Amino acid sequence: MNIESIILPHILGLKPYSSARDEFKGKEGVFLDANENALGSGLPTAYNRYPDPMAWEIKTQLAEIKHCQKEQIFLGNGSDEAIDLLIRMTCRPGQDAVLICPPTYGMYEVSANINQAKAITVPLDANFDLDLPKIKAALSPELKLLFLCSPNNPTGNKLSRARIVELLDHYQHGLVVVDEAYIDFSDEPSFISELEHYPHLVVLQTLSKAYGLAGLRLGMAFASSFLIGLLNKIKPPYNINAATQTLVQQALGAKDFVKKSIEVLNTQKNALISELNGISGVKTIYPSHANFILVVFDRADDLFDYLIQHQVITRSRTKLSQCEGSIRITIGTESENQALLASINAFYAQ
Ligand SMILES: *Cc1c(COP(=O)(O)O)cnc(C)c1O
Repeated sequence: MNIESIILPHILGLKPYSSARDEFKGKEGVFLDANENALGSGLPTAYNRYPDPMAWEIKTQLAEIKHCQKEQIFLGNGSDEAIDLLIRMTCRPGQDAVLICPPTYGMYEVSANINQAKAITVPLDANFDLDLPKIKAALSPELKLLFLCSPNNPTGNKLSRARIVELLDHYQHGLVVVDEAYIDFSDEPSFISELEHYPHLVVLQTLSKAYGLAGLRLGMAFASSFLIGLLNKIKPPYNINAATQTLVQQALGAKDFVKKSIEVLNTQKNALISELNGISGVKTIYPSHANFILVVFDRADDLFDYLIQHQVITRSRTKLSQCEGSIRITIGTESENQALLASINAFYAQ
């Protein structure tokens, strides 16, 4: 496979911005190179210095946790930043395309639209799995990226591993992006272990879900060191801020919190599902490998509004094709889930 042919030539040839901290890597010295305020920040913790542009300390920790090389990790301001950069490095505006399989995460299409890339849609099949014959029929030279989301948002199921592998084997003139934002809640192994076999594979993960760090904005892309080098070349120089770098280093040390969260949320998910099963307005609860469930309700629009009036905020998916009448519910604490159930019961008792 000629991986370079997938990348836009001006990106391959780009000379990246060289920041002051790229040019001097030492930690000791008199730093008069970056026009920072030497006096401090007016905060208890000083943030007057620019952070490490490559966030190597976080990558060193992540490489151990994720079993890969630190050169195979790109860090972004949320995984949404990686989605945008992947489109920008492969798609000629107005000419090239990405493939998405709805119902799925909305940012793939928004990011494609921002970059004037066409979003070719091949809906998931009746089991919310990849429709391989239709995907294969949609492959064209202009198609540069396949976005596959597993476990999928908003349906909660994982995609069949065999079908993803078949696509990786079959489709070689673009990148295959597997978005694993919810992988920590699933028993499915990550595709990171397949990176050595597929130079056109990119795996996305995030600290926003199981790690409980949505407010810090840290998303990850895992790929060959060649692709990661290109993403680093086109990212804004200091895209991971100093506060995030410090706090994420601490959080990655607290492995018990993540493990416990996954256990508690999966237990709460099962408890919520069995309670919902006893409510007659509940039509379908889709199996979930994530920290949310997609539920088809009777009178879903009215229920959704009723819940909002009672300060229970869920995500209406009723307008999405294949998700008619459904609401996506994030698993909360036990008492939050009880509040949800009480409101749903009150709605159907009216
Ligand atoms: C939440 C989510 C993300 C984005 O996460 P951030 O890192 O917070 O930007 C990516 N993909 C999917 C499918 C998600 O649900």
